[in-house]
Amino acid sequence: SAVMPPPLAAKPKLKIATTSLSGCFGCHTSLCDIDERILELAEVAEFDRSPLTDIKHCSAHVDIGLIEGSVCNAENVHVLREFRASCKILVALGACAVNGGLPASRNALDVADCLQRVYCERGVGRHQVPNDPELPLLLDKVRPINEVVRIDYFIPGCPPSGDAIWKFLTDLIAGRMPRLEHGLLRFD
Ligand code: SF4
Repeated sequence: SAVMPPPLAAKPKLKIATTSLSGCFGCHTSLCDIDERILELAEVAEFDRSPLTDIKHCSAHVDIGLIEGSVCNAENVHVLREFRASCKILVALGACAVNGGLPASRNALDVADCLQRVYCERGVGRHQVPNDPELPLLLDKVRPINEVVRIDYFIPGCPPSGDAIWKFLTDLIAGRMPRLEHGLLRFD
């Protein structure tokens, strides 16, 4: 009698991870602006570590990692290195990740003066610079993420639009070179 072929194995879904270093979550909000297209995305991909899933650590093999925010402290460096180690393709999402963005505006100032001004002169409460040993050590200067690890793609904008993120992801997933045309590519 004829032997039935085994059922076709379902194609494994891509894994996408996202995180925020020193950012404002505006880029994650833009990701949510893909709206109902997230259902299309869910057919081919699943979210791994992300504020959207509340999963705190990456799986060993993530296909696409999206990172918003710049590198301001030692914890940011740690998370960024962990992401790089787990993600096949790493994407700098938004101005902070691409070039330091708004947080880098402190780079012209002395970090000790900044802390003094914020917590002691202008601050409310205890009027002292927080010094709990659990707080991550601040870096002297804020860095874009490509100064710490290798980055595969950069999506500029503060934030990039949901349409830009969608175009980028659909190009990448379809195996095309991601291309953001005029209108989707912005730097403000
Ligand atoms: Fe927020 Fe803009 Fe930075 Fe994105 S690029 S995290 S929207 S400040």
